[in-house]
Amino acid sequence: MNILRAATRVRSSNPYGRQARFLHLHEYQSQELMRGYGIRVPRGTAVTTKEEALAAAKSLGDGTDIVVKAQVLAGGRGLGTFENGFKSGVHLCYDAKTAADIASKMFGQNLVTKQTGAGGKLCSKVLVTERMYMRREMYLGILYDRESQGPTIIASREGGSSIEDIAASNPNAIKNIPVNIAEGITPEVADAVAEAMGFHGNSKKQCAEQVKKLYQLFIEKDATLVEINPMIETPQGEVVCIDAKINFDDNADFRQPDIFAMRDTTQEDPREVRAAEAGLNYIGLDGNIGCLVNGAGLAMATMDIIKLHGGNPANFLDVGGGATDKQVTEAFTILNDDPKVQAILVNIFGGIMRCDVIAQGIITAAKTIQLRVPLVVRLQGNKVDEAKKLIFDSGLRIIAADDLDEAGKKAVKLAEIVQIANTVDVNVSFKLPL
Ligand code: GDP
Ligand code: MN
Repeated sequence: MNILRAATRVRSSNPYGRQARFLHLHEYQSQELMRGYGIRVPRGTAVTTKEEALAAAKSLGDGTDIVVKAQVLAGGRGLGTFENGFKSGVHLCYDAKTAADIASKMFGQNLVTKQTGAGGKLCSKVLVTERMYMRREMYLGILYDRESQGPTIIASREGGSSIEDIAASNPNAIKNIPVNIAEGITPEVADAVAEAMGFHGNSKKQCAEQVKKLYQLFIEKDATLVEINPMIETPQGEVVCIDAKINFDDNADFRQPDIFAMRDTTQEDPREVRAAEAGLNYIGLDGNIGCLVNGAGLAMATMDIIKLHGGNPANFLDVGGGATDKQVTEAFTILNDDPKVQAILVNIFGGIMRCDVIAQGIITAAKTIQLRVPLVVRLQGNKVDEAKKLIFDSGLRIIAADDLDEAGKKAVKLAEIVQIANTVDVNVSFKLPL
């Protein structure tokens, strides 16, 4: 795997983008987990109030320098800015009172970083840790690699800045060291990693030990990414992990109940949290046409058609083959409650899923929620005639389309009309029944 691709792979397992399907823990939670594996992390406490911050800073001991770190699920916090204008989510300071003052400027504020998008992420917790002195900052990432068909370790003797930046400015600093999953991490591999990070002598031994333990955590906890940036070397030659980002495979939730119990849904897209609770495959996007489709392939095709006609999908939503009435209603509610959505396109191919079940879901949904946007429906396949009859008999005004192209065109046009109506403040009502 070449280094640029490796760097991109690290980022593509990034949970901050909406597409990712991995659990991501806060730094303080990751630290706790790492402590349990004997991995060296700074002492510290996560707090939610100014008073707690003061107590936590004092408990580090007199004369200890302090780091105050915003706990949001995004990297690049050091270079971020809070919505109140306060700069940086990572502050070094020298006394407990200052630490508490800094923490109080972070609580309740959104921190905007390179990875959060313009809205930022809410900071409800702050980690107060001891400051480490460092001679060098290094980078370590453990993730899965398609090419070597197993785990791989990305090690760099430069760290601190993002792996993409290092890959661009000094690709030679980065080494990619695959691990044979059957053998596990051998002393040779651990040594090679420590060497790639530029360690010598006793620190090299220490680093190799840390790498072994991090790998053990990666495997045992079903992680998809363990990223330590930076791992540091102190002037005394000690090796410490001072930042950690760990992602976990969502499919492993049943094997890792303790890890998944730590999920912080307040940091996730609320539309996705709600959809996940209803058992729907939903990914939020930035467009204005809500899509409700069965089958992932058809969902993709529907999004393509919308794009082709100049529109933008607001989401990917696959209701699956066995969706119930209730799930369809919930799906509608999520689309209808999304303020960005200006038209809804339903595209169902009745194979396993029966069109009449979907139609019943649409009718129930339209009657129970105040559907505020126009609705275009294209149904084909199993029980389509029954479905059409149900819709017709319901008296609801639903724009029907027989083929997908036509349905896509109609949805795009209607969304445009609603958009224009909203801009000029004309009261166009699409409430159902009309
Ligand atoms: P990130 O910006 O979200 O990646 O947060 P980090 O935890 O990596 O902190 C950002 C940067 O602050 C690090 O890369 C370090 O350069 C610096 N930093 C964080 N903690 C310490 C510390 O204990 N001592 C020193 N000297 N620098 C630190
Ligand atoms: Mn970092």
